[in-house]
Amino acid sequence: MPQSASGRAHDAVLRHIEESLRSGKLRLGDRLPGERALAEQFGISRGSVRGAIRSLEVMGVVRSATGSGPNSGTVIVSDPSSALGGALRMHVASHRLPLKDVVEARIMMETWSLEHAAVAPWDEEQLDDARRLLEAMDDDALSPEVFTLLDAQFHVALSSLAGNAVVSTMMDSMRGAISEFIDEAVTSRGTWDQMVHVLREHHRGIFEAVEARDGELAARLVHEHIDWFYRHAS
Ligand SMILES: [Zn+2]
Repeated sequence: MPQSASGRAHDAVLRHIEESLRSGKLRLGDRLPGERALAEQFGISRGSVRGAIRSLEVMGVVRSATGSGPNSGTVIVSDPSSALGGALRMHVASHRLPLKDVVEARIMMETWSLEHAAVAPWDEEQLDDARRLLEAMDDDALSPEVFTLLDAQFHVALSSLAGNAVVSTMMDSMRGAISEFIDEAVTSRGTWDQMVHVLREHHRGIFEAVEARDGELAARLVHEHIDWFYRHAS
């Protein structure tokens, strides 16, 4: 099927921005020229520019804010995990990506991360994020939804010690892709009070193994933890 003129115009804007990012002409925090300026630069309609910017937003590459304040306009951000998470979530919803497979992939990446974290060159302070999250989850007043959010951040904080940005991002997005399932599981079941104690215990064990740089133990515990959660949640 031949591509429409507006599709080509749209692609030209995307290619130009990609090239500018690659060459460093555009960096994080930079602002894109306004809609009218871009339309003139490419000789295309403002509608095509808007379409291109909307796709960049969905990809997590820019954020647009309306108005005329200092934060208005279209700014280059980089938020790959929310964009990937959003896309994965749609494909999980359509059942093209089975939940069970997402969970398996998550286990694979997480055990890999904790094994590698054991020999990666991080220092004590880098553990502080995970430690703070671990302590925050001890609060009995937390709702299940807030607990599971902190839980997700805890896993990302520990895995990021392995020092692989792609793996951390993929993990974060896979967690985002199944967040509906997790929220439903923890709010619709009457067993949360018992569950939360086990989750805290698991987290402490995983944290201590990582702190002690025992990669084998940390990987085994995180595997058991994720398995246990899905067995009790589904
Ligand atoms: Zn957890």
